[in-house]
Amino acid sequence: MTIKQNVSQILSELPEGVQLVAAAKTRKPEEILEAIEAGIKIVGENYVQEAERAYELIANKAKWHFIGHLQKNKVKKAVKIFDMIETVDSFELANEIDKRCAQIGKVMPVLIEVNIGREAQKSGVLPENTEQLAKEISALPNIRLMGLMTMGPLSGDPEDSRPYFVAMKKLFEKMKKVELPNTEMKYLSMGMTNSYKIAPEEGANIIRIGTKIFGERN
Ligand SMILES: *Cc1c(COP(=O)(O)O)cnc(C)c1O
Repeated sequence: MTIKQNVSQILSELPEGVQLVAAAKTRKPEEILEAIEAGIKIVGENYVQEAERAYELIANKAKWHFIGHLQKNKVKKAVKIFDMIETVDSFELANEIDKRCAQIGKVMPVLIEVNIGREAQKSGVLPENTEQLAKEISALPNIRLMGLMTMGPLSGDPEDSRPYFVAMKKLFEKMKKVELPNTEMKYLSMGMTNSYKIAPEEGANIIRIGTKIFGERN
């Protein structure tokens, strides 16, 4: 199947109100462009440097979401390119994003990344620390908190992801009830190639797909 066919198929299966992010790590700008021509509206990037190269060619043809682990020293470049940063997991990072956005007169929509599987090697805040971080972020004028994101533990069987998605949805609903300034709990980003059908069933309204669009990564 071509990239175009893959995108068409996924879009045709996507429930209404669910946004599709094409996770583009390691892909050539030409491949990303092909996905956009097939209907992709949001490109997800894990690395700032890779994003810069693709952005040169593609720029305004899509929205750009940062979905990787963002290092502090890359924030200055990242805030210029990205329309959303999905992976904020510390106040230090949020504060740096706020500072760099203030310098260019931008308000950055962000999601808090949650380590819902409590995996030692994964980024993200633990579920019980989400509210505290949300509070801290809500005081930053150049960031707008707009929801939650998770990777979740990877496994061969998509059904293994379901309990984690259910837990995320519960946390998301709880966070919606917390009244915070400058905050709009609107997006729940979860589900990848392996689990993209299950995640929207459990409340995801952003899913991030790489392999099923572009093929296996080398
Ligand atoms: C790579 C990646 C994806 C997509 O993974 P696939 O299994 O290739 O669909 C989604 N989210 C994040 C954060 C990623 O790094």
